[in-house]
Amino acid sequence: MTAAQTPTMRDKPDVSDAKVHILWINAGLSCDGDSVALTSATQPSIEDIVLGVLPGLPEVAVHWPLIDYENGPVGVRDDFIHWFHEAYNDELDAPFVLVVEGSIPNEKIKSEGYWAAFGNDPDTGDPIPTSDWVERLAPKALAVLAAGTCATYGGIHAMEGNPTGAMGVADLLGWDFRTPAGIPIVNVPGCPTHPDNLSETILYLLYQATGQAPMIPLDEKLRPTWLFGATVHEGCARAGYYEQGEFAEDYNSQKCLVKIGCWGPVVKCNVPKRGWINGLGGCPNVGGICIACTMPGFPDKFMPFMDEPPGATVSSRAIKAYGGMIRRLRTMTAKTVDKEPSWRAKGTKLTTGYTAPWR
Ligand code: SF4
Ligand code: SF4
Ligand code: SF4
Repeated sequence: MTAAQTPTMRDKPDVSDAKVHILWINAGLSCDGDSVALTSATQPSIEDIVLGVLPGLPEVAVHWPLIDYENGPVGVRDDFIHWFHEAYNDELDAPFVLVVEGSIPNEKIKSEGYWAAFGNDPDTGDPIPTSDWVERLAPKALAVLAAGTCATYGGIHAMEGNPTGAMGVADLLGWDFRTPAGIPIVNVPGCPTHPDNLSETILYLLYQATGQAPMIPLDEKLRPTWLFGATVHEGCARAGYYEQGEFAEDYNSQKCLVKIGCWGPVVKCNVPKRGWINGLGGCPNVGGICIACTMPGFPDKFMPFMDEPPGATVSSRAIKAYGGMIRRLRTMTAKTVDKEPSWRAKGTKLTTGYTAPWR
C-alpha cells in the first residue's frame, strides 16, 4: 500500500448526521428474559449505545417495550406502537433495525382468535398478530436480529407437544431471507442471551449500517462466528479437571460436571469464557451444568436435564484411565518444580554452575 492509499480519518464515513431506529418486538411467546439480560450488559452497555458514548455511533432511537417511556394511547395515536406503523408505512425519518425477542406462534393452525398480537389495526381495531408484524417489517428493515433462543430457533415454547406451532424468525421468514441491504437474519441465541453477546451484536450492526464494518460474519445457523465459534468446554474453568479424569458426583464439587448433566463439550457458547456479567460467572464456572440453552435443539434434545448426557459415559471412562496416568506423572513433576533449585544457598562459593570467561 502506498502512502497515497493509506486510509486516513478522512476516508471514514461521516456519521455525524446518521440516525438509526431500533424497533423491538417482544410480543411473541416470550418471557422478556433477553430484554432483562440486556440491562446488565457492560461491554458495551445499552446506555453506551443509546447515549452514543462510543466513537462513530449514529444517533440511536430505541423503541424497546422494556424501558420505553412511551406507552398507551395518546389521543388518536398509540404513543408506543405508532413507530411500528410508521416503519410499515415507510414514514420513519431514518432506517431501522428490527429486533425480535420470543418465538413466533403459527397463526395459520387455529380456527379462531390469535396466539400472540402486538397493537391494533388502526382501521379495524383488531389485534395485529406478531407474525404479521415480523412479516411486514422484516422486508423493510436494515437488519433483522433475533434475540434469544425462542426468537432464533423456537426455544422452550416450541417444545414437542406445544399447541401453538411456535418457531424462530428464520423458520418464519426463511433461512435464506435477506434484508434489502443484503443482510441475513442475525441470530443471537441463549435463554436468555448473554448480555454482552447481544449488545455487541447490536453495536456491530449499527457500525455496519453506517458503513464502518464489513458484512457481519455468520455461521450456518446465522450466529455471529466470533461469539459462537467455540464450545462451552473449550472455555470452561473446569476443563482441567475433565482432562485429568476428575468428575463431580454432586454439586458440592469444583470438579468437572459432565457426569451430573453438563453438555458443555458439544455446545456452542462463549459464556464460561466471557463470564456472565462484567467478566464474572458463567454457568459451569460457578457450578451450573450447561443445559445447552443456545442450541437449535434446545430444550428437547437435551432433556431430561441433570442426567448424564449420552456419550459422556464412554468419553469419561476413556478420560478417567488416561487422566489417572497423567495425574500420577504430574504429581511427580509437580513435586520437583515445587522446590527451589539446589544452588540457592549461602556460602563462600558460587554454586550456580556459572564459569566466568576469565577463569
Ligand atoms: Fe425467555 Fe429464554 Fe425465550 Fe428469551 S429465549 S424469551 S429468556 S424463554
Ligand atoms: Fe466441560 Fe462441562 Fe466439565 Fe466444564 S463442567 S469441563 S464444560 S464437561
Ligand atoms: Fe446456556 Fe450452557 Fe451457555 Fe450456560 S453455558 S448460557 S447453559 S449454553
